[in-house]
Amino acid sequence: MRRLRNVKIVATLGPASGDYETIRALFDAGADVFRLNMSHGSHNETAARHAIIRKIEKETGRPIAILADLQGPKLRVGTFENETEELQEGQTFRFDLDETPGNGERVNLPHKEIFDALEPGVSLLVNDGKIRMRVLDCGRDFAECSVENGGTISNRKGVNVPDVVLPLAALTQKDRKDLEFACQLGVDWLALSFVQRPEDVEEARSRAAGRAFIISKIEKPAAVIAFDDILATSDGIMVARGDLGVELPVQNVPPIQKRLVRACRAAAKPVIVATQMLESMIDSPMPTRAEVSDVAAAIYEGVDAVMLSAESAAGSYPVQAVTTMNNVAMEVESDPTYRQIIESSRAGRKETVADAIVSAAREIAETTQIKAICCFSESGTTALLTARERPHVPIIALTSRIGTSRRLDLSWGMHCVTVSDVDRFKMAVVNAIRVARSDGFASETDQIVVTAGIPFNRPGSTNILRVAHCDERLIFSSDPE
Ligand code: ATP
Ligand code: MG
Ligand code: MG
Repeated sequence: MRRLRNVKIVATLGPASGDYETIRALFDAGADVFRLNMSHGSHNETAARHAIIRKIEKETGRPIAILADLQGPKLRVGTFENETEELQEGQTFRFDLDETPGNGERVNLPHKEIFDALEPGVSLLVNDGKIRMRVLDCGRDFAECSVENGGTISNRKGVNVPDVVLPLAALTQKDRKDLEFACQLGVDWLALSFVQRPEDVEEARSRAAGRAFIISKIEKPAAVIAFDDILATSDGIMVARGDLGVELPVQNVPPIQKRLVRACRAAAKPVIVATQMLESMIDSPMPTRAEVSDVAAAIYEGVDAVMLSAESAAGSYPVQAVTTMNNVAMEVESDPTYRQIIESSRAGRKETVADAIVSAAREIAETTQIKAICCFSESGTTALLTARERPHVPIIALTSRIGTSRRLDLSWGMHCVTVSDVDRFKMAVVNAIRVARSDGFASETDQIVVTAGIPFNRPGSTNILRVAHCDERLIFSSDPE
């Protein structure tokens, strides 16, 4: 089973996609990575979804990455008696510390520190800025607001106060518990919300202690400023456009997205573009033309992954949303302009032997018979360097570690396969040929490029490149080693 595109699709799971049938349908439609949002849903729900994904992984034989998204110091309202309420422009609405479920006039905002920091005249934005309110009056345990832009408010929607600087801890008590829970469950990636400094990433990394890789969500102005240092300490990046577009003027988001995507590719680390990619598909089976353009633009830029949030978690058309992304990706990637953009944005700098080998592999693959670049990579580093080249043939990442396979699943162009430990290069080549043929990448008359590091058990030592004919008999009859 193989995908016929390079960009990956991340689908958030939620009430609209919690059962086996839907998750399997999302996978079959093209979802490569599943996101479990720790802001919503209980640990039990998260564990149940995790188990379903691992079951699908077993059934299909394809490694699937699971990404647990930690809430971070985000302000969220409590819950509502009727789950959701419509707020009208001109009405008043009150936030308080009372934990009783809310209604059309008030709701709990369980963050004491915010009431101390508010002042009359300050703006409050709800649900990625869709609802805008202004504080009329406030005290130690309430804020009375006038609704300037109405809309739907529902359980646990996020609240931003861009005019006020709040003292934010990177990982809240809840995040520490969720992190430990997710690591024990066995997730592959942790996404950190509202990262502001490289130290925030380091704390999460030391708590994860090698059990999961770290994605920093860029959604604060401070993170944009400190981006280079944050990227250096992270394993991947998410351009979290929802909060970013509230914390900064919305027109600043596209240039930031472009800059971040380029920097991530140069650093050979995966980057996800997230939020509102197909927002209208929450309620409609048909996306808007602008949404399709947005998804396409991100793919033309060469992002590793595009993400669905509420579209797949809480919308009426989760599977159709994945299908739409898949169709857009197939169309963009078959456009000659896509190849031109990808080629022209490739960095030419080569600093190490591994850089030179992956670049040579890509150049060799530009000849006609080469059908795939097969890359033996224990830590995954060489596979990531290969993805940075954005070759025009698929990358088959072979590793003996399931954790590496799942981690790499998020990256551009990567088809990950777990193989039993190989200790000789000749066996590695035979393994690569078998996978390339059985997974439908090459036939007997084709050739593949194989890269590896000898000796095999030392990570980060890629030093060998071989062009191999896919007829196994030729290997056994002609090879001295
Ligand atoms: P974040 O800032 O982390 O993106 P979010 O609130 O925007 O948080 P998303 O995962 O982007 O959450 O999903 C968008 C919406 O889908 C949520 O606001 C919520 O209404 C709904 N949703 C997502 N996951 C769940 C879940 N597990 N349970 C209930 N609702 C969910
Ligand atoms: Mg967010
Ligand atoms: Mg969101």
